[in-house]
Amino acid sequence: MYCRYCGKEMVEGAAVCVQCGAPKGAGTAYCPFCGNATAPGAVICVSCGRQLGAVTAVPGQEQKSKTTAGLLALFLGFGIYNFYLGYTGKAVTQLILDIVGILLAALIVGFFIIFGVSIWQLVEGIMLLTGKISVDGKGIPLKD
Ligand SMILES: [Zn+2]
Ligand SMILES: [Zn+2]
Repeated sequence: MYCRYCGKEMVEGAAVCVQCGAPKGAGTAYCPFCGNATAPGAVICVSCGRQLGAVTAVPGQEQKSKTTAGLLALFLGFGIYNFYLGYTGKAVTQLILDIVGILLAALIVGFFIIFGVSIWQLVEGIMLLTGKISVDGKGIPLKD
């Protein structure tokens, strides 16, 4: 077993490479079986012919659904779709604007705030559903 980051041999059963600190299985630079360099994204090691672990999504980086986000934007508001997508700054802004708008609903300005945020969310909802917004707040591509 070799470290896929630095190519040094790893202690069998170790969870972390003692040479570079990379977690076991992380990295794509070296073959875990023979320790030779591999091309990033390669599925098979050209040196020993063994299958390298499929490049799977890192845990905690699951892809968000653009359909879910788009529908949340169109029907729920309050920036909930941006919370879902991880655009926390935008989400908090929309949430605060919606709350302020509701508090000021008796005044004409409240109406304009709610109207403005609704248009913003409508536009982004359509951009999500049509794929114009294609990544989440962490830059991970959205799935359908
Ligand atoms: Zn290492
Ligand atoms: Zn190999």
